[in-house]
Amino acid sequence: MTQRTVYVNGEYVAERDARVSIFDRGFLLADGVYEVSSVLEGKLIDFPGHMGRLKRSAAELEMALPWDEKALLTIHRELIRRNALAEGMVYLQLTRGSAGDRDFGYPDTDTPPTLVLFTQAKSLVDSRSGSEGIRVVTQPDWRWARRDIKTVQLLYPAMAKMAAKAAGADDAWMVEDGMVTEGASNNAWMLTHDGTLVTRELSHAILPGITRAVVLEIAEALSLRVEERAFSVEEAQSAKECFVTSASSFVTPVIAIDDVSIGDGCPGEVARRLRAAYIEESRRRAI
Ligand code: PLP
Repeated sequence: MTQRTVYVNGEYVAERDARVSIFDRGFLLADGVYEVSSVLEGKLIDFPGHMGRLKRSAAELEMALPWDEKALLTIHRELIRRNALAEGMVYLQLTRGSAGDRDFGYPDTDTPPTLVLFTQAKSLVDSRSGSEGIRVVTQPDWRWARRDIKTVQLLYPAMAKMAAKAAGADDAWMVEDGMVTEGASNNAWMLTHDGTLVTRELSHAILPGITRAVVLEIAEALSLRVEERAFSVEEAQSAKECFVTSASSFVTPVIAIDDVSIGDGCPGEVARRLRAAYIEESRRRAI
């Protein structure tokens, strides 16, 4: 496989030469935040939204982010150029850096943060899950109580996805007190039989998805009725349609929850329309 060029703390290096300290707090303590921005035709989509959320995640954790949006855009674009990335994602991770030892306390503020970025080539527009939909299984939401911060503590979502795979499904929906919080790596939506789109309201319980925000705008432009509220697994199972949104999956229909088919078991019309509209709008807004 060809070597990607990745970014590590100010340098563009071949992936085999990339180095981060074993004392890095991202590695030892999951003391890090991240963003995933998608790329279509070599251009970034929803970039200001992703960088705005990165800034917020860092601020919530009192983590330094000594790069402004312009500097981060330059790094993203340089990686896209050096790797000739036409379609896929750019992954960015910021950690509190390394104080040269393991200690719970935050290091001095002059400890430089670690910034790592790399590209991932992937077909996003033409994807099987996008056209055929996915099957999800529910899992208890055993993540921490500040899911609005996009941290690299992803062990539980990884476990939930493995449980979904073991059950013959594609992904997991997290459930707390009988209500769906969100997908393991996406926001959850349903469409009621009277045509109302429902997605959970923003709070500490879910990640404020950037794709979610854009899809809400699109839904409004299409004069769809929207309610931001929690919904139960049973309500979703008997909904007209269900789908998920995320930077790398755009709008992806959900065709079954815990082996209960949604609607007629095929991707729904509204999900299909929203996916097409999101892709069109993203191409228009890409930078
Ligand atoms: N919720 C969780 C838990 C996620 O991990 C993600 C994306 O990784 C999302 C929602 C969707 O967010 P976005 O649309 O910004 O990719």
